[in-house]
Amino acid sequence: MVGMEEISLWQQVCRQFDRAAAHTKHAPGILAQIRACNHVYRIAFPLRRDDGSVQVIHGWRAEHSHHKLPTKGGIRYSMVVSEDEVMGLAALMTYKCAIVDVPFGGAKGGIKISVKDYSTGELERITRRYTTELMHKQFIGPGIDVPAPDYGTGAREMAWIADTYQAISTDKLEALACVTGKPVGQGGIRGRKEATGRGVYLGIREAVNVVEDMTPLGLSAGLGGKRVVVQGLGNVGYHAAKFLQEGGAVIVGLAEYEGAIASDAGLDLEAVMAHRAATGSLLGFPGARDLPDRRAALELDCDVLVPAALENVITAENAPRIRAKIIAEAANGPVTSDADNMLLDRGVLVLPDIYLNAGGVTVSYFEWLKNLSHVRFGRMDKRRDQHIFGELVGALQRLTGMRLRHDEVVDITRGPDEEDLVNSGLEDTMVMAYQEIRTIAKRDKVDLRTASLISAIDKIARTYSELGIFP
Ligand code: GLU
Repeated sequence: MVGMEEISLWQQVCRQFDRAAAHTKHAPGILAQIRACNHVYRIAFPLRRDDGSVQVIHGWRAEHSHHKLPTKGGIRYSMVVSEDEVMGLAALMTYKCAIVDVPFGGAKGGIKISVKDYSTGELERITRRYTTELMHKQFIGPGIDVPAPDYGTGAREMAWIADTYQAISTDKLEALACVTGKPVGQGGIRGRKEATGRGVYLGIREAVNVVEDMTPLGLSAGLGGKRVVVQGLGNVGYHAAKFLQEGGAVIVGLAEYEGAIASDAGLDLEAVMAHRAATGSLLGFPGARDLPDRRAALELDCDVLVPAALENVITAENAPRIRAKIIAEAANGPVTSDADNMLLDRGVLVLPDIYLNAGGVTVSYFEWLKNLSHVRFGRMDKRRDQHIFGELVGALQRLTGMRLRHDEVVDITRGPDEEDLVNSGLEDTMVMAYQEIRTIAKRDKVDLRTASLISAIDKIARTYSELGIFP
């Protein structure tokens, strides 16, 4: 069984694709084109280290599908980056974008480094050089391929990418749209940082609100009181945990590199973060149990397990010991395909990555639109909405004779700002997509991952046929 597990992420994604493709009626040639990874660029370049020595840095950018342009996907810095991993992650981006109707093809980049081994200056030199390499081969541009943050990267790296691109590109007008996830002052958008975690929360909320789906799991509907374990407290894991806790869930376990902690009574996320910042570790948090093996957190008794770090953490080896009733894939590819089959056989509800973590790319799409339109969402209509709401409240008060307090009037009549609009667009996207994949899952009697892929394959095939590329 363990031997079966030793397949790459790319092969795993292909397996998932084939399982879903069998439920569609598209011609084999169309399916083969949708599955293929179109472009892979492998890069090696020298880095002058701070101590004067020279080191070769290895990186990749894979563009999986060009059925829509630009292609889109993050850049990760990690020691497990490989060509096959980047290809698999690029494919997941293609399907993810299609599922949430974001009009992009999928891409992914990676540099094989461990961030903690490099100074800020070295990371800046690596990021800027990687960007120029992408530019030379036309692997970046507002209408070509638009990177974003991923594991090990964030707004700072995106600012370096945008600055390098802007400095070199002759296209000054649209240059900022060459990358998303930038700091707000550098053309970023409010709400992007939280977007993936917020999307994870919204997806879980939608799933647990369906009584019919919760009953077979022995769970009541609603997020309130659901016992949640989150593995990985990076940007995605932290924000998912934060929104889940605010939504009424109880965090009963948290895991990071150094180990994990658990408490049946619930962990206060902000207090845990403060403890970790002060001591350098989750372990030793007052009132919690220490689990020195971080992987033990995955096996805690809970309702919802949220793997939010890297791929392949739930395998055929540990799947039989997983006690969660719902697995919410905040990371990309955290469950291997063998483990996935075992969990499905046991009736575990798996919310697949290609749906659940699509909130990041959804808000990246909003950022790209903002950059191209050169105007902040809400700038034109916020005041107007405020006036209209004010008139309505005034008219209602006159008609009914009721008087609202001043603070209530201010609250009701406030016109939406950029963050309100971003969050509203994100919520609508996650809610609509969940309804869509759930409907397909019921119709075809398949799991949610297969249903999500059927939805993606159908949409991409439609694009090709509308282009007249395939009959
Ligand atoms: N890296 C994120 C993902 O895996 C976001 C990609 C993007 O915003 O383009 O979905």
